[in-house]
Amino acid sequence: MSHLEHASVAIIGGGIGGLAAALAFSRFGAAVTVFEQAAELCEVGAGIQITPNGGRVLAALGLDDRLDDVSLRAQAVQPRDALTGRTIARFDLTRQTPPYRFFHRAALIDLLGGACRASGVTFNLGTRIKAVSPDGTVTVQDGTQTYDLVVGADGLHSVARGVLNAQDAPFFTGQVAWRGLISAANADPVAHIWMAPGKHVVSYPLKDGLLNVVAVQERAHWAAEGWHHADTPENLQAAFADMGTELRSLIAQVERPRLWGLFRHPVAQNWYLNRLAVLGDAAHPTLPFLAQGANLALEDAWTLAATCAAAPLDQALPIYQSLRAPRVSRAIAAANANARNYHLGGLQRRVAHAGLRTLGAVAPNAFLGRLGWLYDHDVTA
Ligand SMILES: Cc1cc2nc3c(=O)[nH]c(=O)nc-3n(C[C@H](O)[C@H](O)[C@H](O)COP(=O)(O)OP(=O)(O)OC[C@H]3O[C@@H](n4cnc5c(N)ncnc54)[C@H](O)[C@@H]3O)c2cc1C
Repeated sequence: MSHLEHASVAIIGGGIGGLAAALAFSRFGAAVTVFEQAAELCEVGAGIQITPNGGRVLAALGLDDRLDDVSLRAQAVQPRDALTGRTIARFDLTRQTPPYRFFHRAALIDLLGGACRASGVTFNLGTRIKAVSPDGTVTVQDGTQTYDLVVGADGLHSVARGVLNAQDAPFFTGQVAWRGLISAANADPVAHIWMAPGKHVVSYPLKDGLLNVVAVQERAHWAAEGWHHADTPENLQAAFADMGTELRSLIAQVERPRLWGLFRHPVAQNWYLNRLAVLGDAAHPTLPFLAQGANLALEDAWTLAATCAAAPLDQALPIYQSLRAPRVSRAIAAANANARNYHLGGLQRRVAHAGLRTLGAVAPNAFLGRLGWLYDHDVTA
């Protein structure tokens, strides 16, 4: 028996985490309503890597047979020297099950949104939640509504997180990320990590002849956090002017770069109270250097719905946080460490590149084996 039969659940936010939660709660028998402030379900024009741990959630949600239509199966990840363009090593991804995938974000949102609609989820688009309360009440423009459970999947600037926790103090990491899409017909489905002192670039192809580019630079002056801050191609090109020819030519093709200031946020202390819970970036924003923010949001979504289906709410929500908080904290620490590893200079850089080269030559599986705790984890088991 599911404890969610006949339960009403409101999800605030129609991003990847919110839609996955809406679908999971619906699959476990709840009547689900999604509130999304944007007038339609949409995502920024950018790519996203879904690793096997996130892929298992998509499969458990019943989306497996659609994934090849909307994403590419990744073949390998190749660390490269950004100054010379030389490939340092190639680590095979083809043996990952489920496959490691490259999505256009909008395609993933379309897939999740379509499945939610088919599953009977109600959408209130163009509806910004102004306030939430642990008693299950949400406040919209024209009044309040009450649910058995309200889930804050409302991202970085979460209203729900603020109700459950004291104001936190995110700090600027001294790093900014530009992102952009360029055309690249028939590019191999390989993620390239171009590393240089104080900066790195990640590039990988998407369906429909696009290549996703994320370029990260350490710098002293602050930039705002968020996907929608336009910057000029000239600023991006100037930041990477000292890179090798191949990378510079890739950067030169980014016509409309967006700039994101990278901030560190503490993991929320409290993920729930009574009838209110948070997930994804609302609970634990992470730096993008391990490509895990959305994957962790998918894992949260499944875990929250499954625990609420298995136990009454007052027991389920503490179990949810206790299952999730240690794992996301470990993933966030690993992402923070990657930032340092990618940006090494001088002797440290030479030693690190030699180590990667040796690993690639003699024990290529050991590289991904170190991430077994992350990729092999199955929250749906
Ligand atoms: C440069 C970069 C690259 C990244 N690459 C990857 C990657 O490859 N793989 C990966 O797993 N992660 C990646 N991430 C992280 C990932 O993008 C996020 O962790 C993920 O999108 C979080 O999903 P979410 O659903 O929790 O929040 P969001 O995607 O932020 O969704 C929140 C939703 O809530 C809505 N909302 C907010 N407030 C309200 C309100 N009051 N009322 C109604 N609606 C509201 C918003 O409009 C939005 O639709 C990357 C991040 C960056 C910055």
